[in-house]
Amino acid sequence: MNNLNPDTIDATAAGSLLAAARDARTRSYSPYSGFPVGAALLDGEGHVHTGANVENAAYGISMCAERTALFHAVASGVSNFVAIAVVGPAEAESCTPCGSCRQAINEFAPDLPVITSDGSTGYLLTPLSELLPNAFGPRNLSEARGAR
Ligand SMILES: [Zn+2]
Repeated sequence: MNNLNPDTIDATAAGSLLAAARDARTRSYSPYSGFPVGAALLDGEGHVHTGANVENAAYGISMCAERTALFHAVASGVSNFVAIAVVGPAEAESCTPCGSCRQAINEFAPDLPVITSDGSTGYLLTPLSELLPNAFGPRNLSEARGAR
């Protein structure tokens, strides 16, 4: 798979990305919250970058699954993203990214399709721009630089 884009996300692609997120969830380190999360981030070359939440006894430095996946992908040289799937501990509830993760994803992919479980055998797909409307991003800073 090469040169994927959000329009290429069909039920099969969404299902396999959710499966990758569920697999990543098994590696969550979440002894304090008991809330394991897995994320799977698909890039334009068809590679899947996974992450799980990693907690710490010093709660504040814990990291979400989505940012674990995103930061690892970016640090690997990837910044062309097609979709992300996120699963929490309860399949019956859609687990969307927290506000910090929405902001982090917005940096690279403002319209990224966010795929979550619909509680049965299907999935929900919500563009990040709906989860984080009127987002602050790189464009705001470049506009400010241009105004100086
Ligand atoms: Zn988060």
